[in-house]
Amino acid sequence: MKTTHHDLIILGAGPAGLSAGLYAARARIDHLLIEKGAAGGQILLTDWIDNYPGFPDGLSGFELAEKMEAQARRFGLNTLTANVISINLLQTPKTLTLEDGSEFSCNTLILCTGARARRLGVPGEIEFTGKGVSYCATCDAPFYRDMHVAVVGGGNSAVQEAAHLTKFASRVTLIHRRDALRATKIVQERAFANDRIDFIWNSQVTAIEGEKGVERLRLRDTAGQESTLAVDGIFILIGVLPNNEILPLQLLKAEDGGFIPTDNETCTAVPGVFAAGDIRNKRVRQIVNAAGEGATAVLTAEHYLNNLNS
Ligand code: NAP
Repeated sequence: MKTTHHDLIILGAGPAGLSAGLYAARARIDHLLIEKGAAGGQILLTDWIDNYPGFPDGLSGFELAEKMEAQARRFGLNTLTANVISINLLQTPKTLTLEDGSEFSCNTLILCTGARARRLGVPGEIEFTGKGVSYCATCDAPFYRDMHVAVVGGGNSAVQEAAHLTKFASRVTLIHRRDALRATKIVQERAFANDRIDFIWNSQVTAIEGEKGVERLRLRDTAGQESTLAVDGIFILIGVLPNNEILPLQLLKAEDGGFIPTDNETCTAVPGVFAAGDIRNKRVRQIVNAAGEGATAVLTAEHYLNNLNS
């Protein structure tokens, strides 16, 4: 079967991939952006975005994705909707095999496959996502002014975000499945000293219920005791999972549960392979960072390509 070659392949069309696509198209790099679904990535799951610069009135995640894609298309973004099933980084050029058996090769590859929030997997969670169920306090806290919200988790994200939520919500209840937090001690101390945060220990959320939005949680403690908690919203902050299923993790020296380490210029451990956005091993996962990293990755890849050709 014929292999189609491009100087640059971008894998994934979330904000990092779309930004990379914009920069690649404007730089007139022979490129292809491959995405298996609709362009936008995690922002398609975000109801409303108020923290992306340049949009003073905010906009929906869907709208932002559309605008990012349209902007890149204006400069000639080249895309393919397809499912990549394997990647070979051992050979030059690097090759990608699609589900239909076709093969693409490239001199440089930018990985923008993103991440996903770990889900609780309880009834009501999917139904109420964006209607009271959130995975990002930085994004959604302002919607809960003077309301009561629950936070699930005991790590740094959950405990720090619970504190952040108290700037808006009148009451924050942190629900943790054990009797001790995993978060850094200083983060814990601040949370314990915050009189707007209360704690429910040794308990799991078993269901999220309501009519049009979240109204109450069903809980079960480790002794099997069931209870109900009335809340206006629930923030599920129990970790992030990388979308790395098709990546050669050993070669890329993946760390911390499968995220890809890079240097400041987005270079991975494999020459000519770059990573941008939430798949990178990093602490801050915001749309604006992902977009910035997509741009950095293309400019670094362009430099790599120029050196290859000189
Ligand atoms: P994390 O540290 O992995 O913590 C996840 C928490 O969720 C744990 O408390 C875990 O409980 C709980 N959990 C996991 N699965 C669950 C389930 N199915 N039901 C209920 N609870 C569940 O994740 P994170 O807080 O997102 O942090 C990720 C990494 O980023 C960590 O290395 C963290 O230190 C770092 N981070 C750092 C900062 C900072 O330095 N300022 C801020 C945010 C995050 P158990 O404790 O029982 O396992």
